[in-house]
Amino acid sequence: MTALHNIISDTVIVEGIFYIRQEILGVSDINGFRSVEEILEPLKDKYVKALLQYIVDPAAPRGSWGLGSCLWKDLGECPFGHRFNPVAMLDWSQEGYLCKSGGVWCIRGSEQLELPLKYLDGHNCRMVIISIMPRQVTEETKRQDLVGQVGNLLNTLKSLKK
Ligand SMILES: [Zn+2]
Repeated sequence: MTALHNIISDTVIVEGIFYIRQEILGVSDINGFRSVEEILEPLKDKYVKALLQYIVDPAAPRGSWGLGSCLWKDLGECPFGHRFNPVAMLDWSQEGYLCKSGGVWCIRGSEQLELPLKYLDGHNCRMVIISIMPRQVTEETKRQDLVGQVGNLLNTLKSLKK
């Protein structure tokens, strides 16, 4: 199993087969097994863009589970349900604060969403997490300010009419 790891202070790019070893989800590279926990920890509480997706294998036969990304066939129950929908692909991306809430990794943006880590086990996956400036938050704040200003203006106009 090979994996590409590139962890520069605030960027995580990992590609490889994720699996559970002794109840810990992780991925292997030439340096050995690394847990997802270890990979995510440096970016905890940072504002990030996160991407989790299965990697298509162009050489895989047509209709292969996860288009070649799933290793579960005949080994057990794929957590993503490839037995029922073989060509369904995980392609999840979110922007927000990477946080750990009750032992669960989440992205907290306009709502709090759990990272779909439970689907990675036994799949060839890409995990990209990049620390960025919280753009959306500032835009959202600006928008809310504007809505507030319009509201005030309307109230002023109403009071003038009276
Ligand atoms: Zn699968």
